[in-house]
Amino acid sequence: MQPPAIPSDPFSTPVQFVKGIGPRKSAVLGQFGIRTVHDLLMHIPRRYLDRTAIVTIAELRRSALGGGEAAEGVPGAQVRQEYTVLGEVRSFRVLGVGARSRFVLVLADATGSLQCVWFGGVQYWKKMFLIGETLAVSGQPSLYGNLLQLVHPDIDHIASVERDDDPDPETGGKRWVDALHTGGLVPLYPSGQELSRAGLDSGGFRRVIAGALRTYSDSVPELLPPSIIKSHALVSPRDALNCVHFPVGRQELENGLKRLKYEELFLFQLKLALKRRAVKTESGGIAFSAKSRLARQLVDSLPFSLTRAQVRVINEISADMELPRSMNRLLQGDVGSGKTIVALVSMLIAIENGYQAVFMAPTELLAEQHEGTLTRLLRGLPVNIRLLLGAQKTALRRDLREEIRSGAAQLIVGTHALFEKGVEFAKLGIVVIDEQHRFGVMQRASLRRKGVNPDVLVMTATPIPRTLSLTLYGDLDVSVIDELPKDRHPIRTLLRSDAELDDVAEFIRRQVAEGRQAYFVYPLIEESEKIDLKAATVHFDHLTKDVFPGLRLGLIHGRLARDEREDVMRRFTRREIDVLVATTVIEVGIDVPNASVMVIENAERFGLAQLHQLRGRVGRGGDQSYCILVAKQWIARKVGRAVAPRTAELMLDQHRLAEQRLGAMVKTTDGFAIAEIDLQLRGPGDFFGTRQSGVPEFKVADIITDTTILNDARADAFALVADDPLLEKRGHRPLADHLRARHREEMMLMNVG
Ligand code: ADP
Ligand code: MG
Repeated sequence: MQPPAIPSDPFSTPVQFVKGIGPRKSAVLGQFGIRTVHDLLMHIPRRYLDRTAIVTIAELRRSALGGGEAAEGVPGAQVRQEYTVLGEVRSFRVLGVGARSRFVLVLADATGSLQCVWFGGVQYWKKMFLIGETLAVSGQPSLYGNLLQLVHPDIDHIASVERDDDPDPETGGKRWVDALHTGGLVPLYPSGQELSRAGLDSGGFRRVIAGALRTYSDSVPELLPPSIIKSHALVSPRDALNCVHFPVGRQELENGLKRLKYEELFLFQLKLALKRRAVKTESGGIAFSAKSRLARQLVDSLPFSLTRAQVRVINEISADMELPRSMNRLLQGDVGSGKTIVALVSMLIAIENGYQAVFMAPTELLAEQHEGTLTRLLRGLPVNIRLLLGAQKTALRRDLREEIRSGAAQLIVGTHALFEKGVEFAKLGIVVIDEQHRFGVMQRASLRRKGVNPDVLVMTATPIPRTLSLTLYGDLDVSVIDELPKDRHPIRTLLRSDAELDDVAEFIRRQVAEGRQAYFVYPLIEESEKIDLKAATVHFDHLTKDVFPGLRLGLIHGRLARDEREDVMRRFTRREIDVLVATTVIEVGIDVPNASVMVIENAERFGLAQLHQLRGRVGRGGDQSYCILVAKQWIARKVGRAVAPRTAELMLDQHRLAEQRLGAMVKTTDGFAIAEIDLQLRGPGDFFGTRQSGVPEFKVADIITDTTILNDARADAFALVADDPLLEKRGHRPLADHLRARHREEMMLMNVG
């Protein structure tokens, strides 16, 4: 490829045009999403090493000796100093097997050597390092006998071994490590074995980015309008990039970062603002009359009165339903906050107006449970409710489809299969979607394409931290049920080690003697479902024969046929079963107010959101309820002493994360607090368990910590769109051009100019 004669737009110039980047480097960069010059310039250091914090291994050993003495009093009580050393990788290997395996790496400098140790995640660490490469490792030193160790250090790839053919123009051919001795703040770039092999370790990045900055930084366009630049005192994009990659001081670095973060968040919020405006101004929605006798009758028939939060949320929803545009709303509420009634009221409004309502559950089992609950709640009301499942017989499905097409079926419960081929609605008015965040939003778009424009209410019991909901659902209206019904006692959460299972069993026997019931949840842990099931069954036999010989036990798991599963559930609901042993199928939805104990075995294996969901299965009646987390002894002992992870690498460190999850569960029952911690532990991309969750990944901004910038950027973006919806004003042209050129698809979706 020939570079263009005049440096052109970094947004469209392939990264291969940068000096020092050949086909090999550009191929590897491509795998990591770095395709254009601008992508490369936005590959910003993940942190900066303060030269003054670097010590030799010998110095580190001395400080470990000092720290070791002090540590003998109260373990983990005092704050220990963190150090960084630079050294070469001499060897690495995996020790031990299975859950207790660990990864050990030997690092050496001129003054000695030390071991870096990681427990867990060995498969990941095995792929991280090269023999002979230079690392910067940071952490708190400890002595294991005479061995100097850093447990779970923070690591940076400083220089790889394959560099001799590739002298560094920045340092006049000297190894990059030597160049460290020149500056105060040393930028450390995200890298890894694959990038390192291609010469793109931290030092390698530093060189190619230096070249890219020289050629292209003047051509990085200023997109932001002058008024915003002025009001936030933002530096130019050129200065920002230079400061972030080659900081001359802390203040300059901070200014540069602020500028890049602001711009990134502003552009994102601007797109949301445009999208939201498009939804708000679109026509063709249904203007329901929110006065509903059915809804009134339902509320009057309840054995309890609605909480204030439920009433407020119902008012928000009905006001929205009365408007002639379609509703696009997220209903958030912790487990047990009573979302079902709220959803049912909205559906009754639609039905009373002569429309159909759909209730969509994430699984067929849950669809069945919901249908049961809704049927019970609707007893005595003239509403025709139907359940449509993939597993039903063809003839039955045909009849159901006909009822849906004719309009005889008024409230239809099912899974997403409801929107697949063959199902036509007579007059669809509202769709309620349970527990499928992004999915709900996508569904809406596909319905609209079919020419149907119902109101959409997405429900979630996963409390979403505000920062995340502003980015993820910035285009939705949000209602929050932030209050639990009054009769609830907060659930007491206890952590026990598996050595204390006898005490746990004794506790359950006493609860059962008092007329309560218990869940015993057992995780699916093996790779094969078959082995898992065997383990669960063996465990069940053990519990039945040896642990709870006098009690009535039931087993439920995903492999049971539907009617068997239903049968077990029904018996548990009718109190014919005392202890329900279950794999995670009971996660969401089940509602047995008499159950007062939730035991979660191998609790360290569960995610935080999942633990919180499981805990929500108890505490539904008026009695004191308990959640007992049973973990491996060595994890249970450590909870409460953990520190927050600082790096993405550490997030793979399963042990430490498990400790923090369990600690959070013991500390709080507040779903929002749990969600915040979960977000910090997992990072936003993994918040909903998958990478495809639709959570945008930001390159510079951190939506967990950059809340102030996020709020500013959001306010500015929404104000700008309110003032100039088509971005036609003079100062807004660069933005309009940028969006049109780089985000064409989204812009078309939003019907913008
Ligand atoms: P979730 O928000 O987890 O879906 P549900 O709608 O399943 O919660 O409600 C949990 C339980 O609380 C149900 O048994 C429901 O009947 C009951 N419930 C709902 N609202 C109230 C209320 N205002 N007072 C007392 N109990 C309520
Ligand atoms: Mg629910």
